[in-house]
Amino acid sequence: MAMQVKPIPTLDERINDIRMRTAAIVNDEILPNEDVLWAPRRNRVDEGERRAAIDAREHIKAKVWEAGLWAPHLPTEYGGMGLDFLAHAYMNEVLAYSPGAASLFGVVAPNSGNQTILVKYGTADQKQKWLMPLIAGDMESGFSMTEPHNPGSDPRSLDTTARLDGDEWVINGHKWFTSNGIGADFFIVMCRVEDPTGEEGRSGDMVQMIVPTATKGVDIVRGIGIWGRHESDHCEVKYNDVRVPVSNALGKVGEGHQAAQDRLGAGRVFHCMNSVGAMWRAFDLMVERTTTRHVHGGLMKDKQFVQGFIADSYIDIQSARLMTIDCAEKVDRGLQGARTDISAIKIAVPAAYHRVVDRAIQVFGAAGVTNDLPLAGMYLGARTLRIADGPDEVHQILIAKNVVKEFEANGGWDFGS
Ligand SMILES: Cc1cc2nc3c(=O)[nH]c(=O)nc-3n(C[C@H](O)[C@H](O)[C@H](O)COP(=O)(O)OP(=O)(O)OC[C@H]3O[C@@H](n4cnc5c(N)ncnc54)[C@H](O)[C@@H]3O)c2cc1C
Repeated sequence: MAMQVKPIPTLDERINDIRMRTAAIVNDEILPNEDVLWAPRRNRVDEGERRAAIDAREHIKAKVWEAGLWAPHLPTEYGGMGLDFLAHAYMNEVLAYSPGAASLFGVVAPNSGNQTILVKYGTADQKQKWLMPLIAGDMESGFSMTEPHNPGSDPRSLDTTARLDGDEWVINGHKWFTSNGIGADFFIVMCRVEDPTGEEGRSGDMVQMIVPTATKGVDIVRGIGIWGRHESDHCEVKYNDVRVPVSNALGKVGEGHQAAQDRLGAGRVFHCMNSVGAMWRAFDLMVERTTTRHVHGGLMKDKQFVQGFIADSYIDIQSARLMTIDCAEKVDRGLQGARTDISAIKIAVPAAYHRVVDRAIQVFGAAGVTNDLPLAGMYLGARTLRIADGPDEVHQILIAKNVVKEFEANGGWDFGS
């Protein structure tokens, strides 16, 4: 079934136009072809089916390009749409209705996040060498920050080092969950500087390094098995005396932490809009199923347990969506308080997504856990979101601190602003 998208009366014409054109491609080109497009991900396929999937994806990418909807996250000078924050957020909920569709619009994590960081912090040479091929699809990349022996939820704990030696940085450390690691041409690696001279920066400060994966000493130990699968492209990587030129530092020493925040911070709003789009799809699938499936002498839609599922999912989606839009508007207006709202949606939206998909799976019974439907993948994705990008508890702490601070300063929290 198609996604029901109509112009939103309170939105400006430009954003409505982007949403409607995006929905046209999702509804006309992507949804009817999902089985072909993602066959290699869902099931074992032969060479013909693999080829058909590639051809179908290329065909749709060309249509996206023609429609001027390519790379919403990139400025126009880098071939993107140059969207403002709100337009991007609103586009995401439409894109995410079909899992994987974002990749057909040029948004593929972690490449898209790395592109954004390279646009902001890269030198002209770095842009030429790494950013442009990444945008063109001639290179793949990963972001290597989390370490197995340190809590990723506390980035201050990371201890991978970059020691200055002449005109080279020497990197030593152990990372894991470097996504897209198997096929990556380079990683952006979060390090702590050791520079006895202080020339390149203060020892202990964080810096991001561009590390080509073919460099001597980069050891991609394994694609870690997750969710019962024996392998994934989330890689464990060891860096053993890896040497890169001084010019491979991305941004200034000391900017590493800020760059990681740039990557995650407001980007969480986009991820939440993605979750809203995915929930919307799970909801539609569930409701449609209840109108056709008979159980114990009647249609599911007429059973009160199922009506409860529909109502609770409606409430979950509405509240998650409105919270996210409210937060996006605050970020767009540059409001300081948005930081609290970002943390609030980072907790609330994945949890709502998890509940909605859980109910949809229940309604579908065995079919719900098959690869024939997108629900099983969504379920795992929703659960993972409660850990990645900062686990729930870290955001709870941040919300509480901000609220108490405001409370003590102004005698209360203003929910109206
Ligand atoms: C599928 C997937 C893909 C990923 N991709 C990448 C990637 O590409 N690059 C990358 O660098 N990383 C990646 N990560 C790692 C991710 O960013 C980390 O898992 C995350 O930051 C949490 O760190 P951790 O796993 O070390 O958990 P920890 O920091 O050890 O936290 C474990 C748990 O402790 C609890 N906790 C933490 N702090 C507190 C507190 N203050 N009070 C109470 N409880 C607390 C929380 O419940 C938390 O879930 C990925 C993870 C997954 C699952």
